[in-house]
Amino acid sequence: MVCLNCKTEFESGKHCPNCKSMDIANFTKKRIIYKDNSYTRREWYINLSSYVKFSKDGIILKKTRDYIDYSYLHQIFEENCKKYTFLGLILPSIVFFVLALTNLLAGLLMRETEYFVIDGTLQNIEVFLYFISGLYFVFFLTISYLWIIKKQKCYIAMSKGQIRYIHITKEKYLNMISIFNDFESKSKKE
Ligand SMILES: [Zn+2]
Repeated sequence: MVCLNCKTEFESGKHCPNCKSMDIANFTKKRIIYKDNSYTRREWYINLSSYVKFSKDGIILKKTRDYIDYSYLHQIFEENCKKYTFLGLILPSIVFFVLALTNLLAGLLMRETEYFVIDGTLQNIEVFLYFISGLYFVFFLTISYLWIIKKQKCYIAMSKGQIRYIHITKEKYLNMISIFNDFESKSKKE
């Protein structure tokens, strides 16, 4: 079990032995048990990264009214960004690259099988494959540009009543991290 307030790990009990907080979660291999509810890791990320308010005045979560330590919210936010930047940006760009390559190769192979060319149909298909390949290549370049050059990030959260992949600019991401850091250094001083 882990106390979400002070991050102390302990075997069992209803209170944290260190700070007496009841904000404790039990991490099993697949699920997270928190206050009699069980969450998948995805649901856990959504719960702790969906904000009603996110500013220097405070962070308020949509899905829970419990106070959860800012450093824990920070840790979850970074894990969320890491995982969903991969799923929402890096993986799609790899998929589009593979699709572009596959269509290009299919077009080239079609050119090799000359004896099938009776009329112009196959030639049309070949051109069509190059066209699709080009289209996928544009998608690949656009998405790669976002995460490699613009350093965009993505995280999963509730927004406007739906679960969404939220894309944020590098500036917005750094601003969010700096707000987390401010809160953490404040709570260390107290
Ligand atoms: Zn504690």
